[in-house]
Amino acid sequence: MQTAFAPERLAADPQLASSEKILRTCVHCGFCTATCPTYVLLGDELDSPRGRIYQIKDMLEGGKDATPEIVKHVDRCLSCLSCMTTCPSDVHYMHLVDHARAHIEQTYRRPLADRLMRATLAFVLPHPGRFRLALAAAWFAKPLAPLFSSVPAGAAWRDAAACARKARGALRDREPARVPGGGRAQDARRHSPGLRPGGAGARDQ
Ligand code: SF4
Ligand code: SF4
Repeated sequence: MQTAFAPERLAADPQLASSEKILRTCVHCGFCTATCPTYVLLGDELDSPRGRIYQIKDMLEGGKDATPEIVKHVDRCLSCLSCMTTCPSDVHYMHLVDHARAHIEQTYRRPLADRLMRATLAFVLPHPGRFRLALAAAWFAKPLAPLFSSVPAGAAWRDAAACARKARGALRDREPARVPGGGRAQDARRHSPGLRPGGAGARDQ
């Protein structure tokens, strides 16, 4: 991909220089789109790795502030890095999206509900004790859920959950019936801790 960053900006900012090098390795082939869950689900080029790379390039190259549109598409990226497994050019998408997220934090003021939700997540998720308390509180508050249906942050959570469910279903539909070695894909998933509910740390009982 051709880039037009100002040389003095690249010299002054090593992270920008590193992102520029990565951008130049993308050849626009689009192979990555086939393995991106958000593109598979939404069918929008702007929600594909290639589309996000274009948006990130435009933002970083021009030194522009993040716009709500770019924030929407970068926020939808799950950082699953599935796109990196199918890229023939070894585009280091992870660095690009991390750089874009840092740039967004510096140049974009999120709506209040969004900021509150993020602050809550940052307060709760890294601490197992707080997380356990939050789960217990959520269990007691479950009957009140319909009362929060009109709260924007609540709607965003529901959309995100629906998106994740649909992406999981869409990817499962594309799963081959059999895997190398002769077993069923379903069995391989069951015996692979990283691919079943419970995640990487789960063990067979
Ligand atoms: S597969 Fe790699 S080179 Fe091709 S468009 Fe995607 S990121 Fe760019
Ligand atoms: S990290 Fe995952 S969701 Fe994000 S662009 Fe790559 S494949 Fe798509």
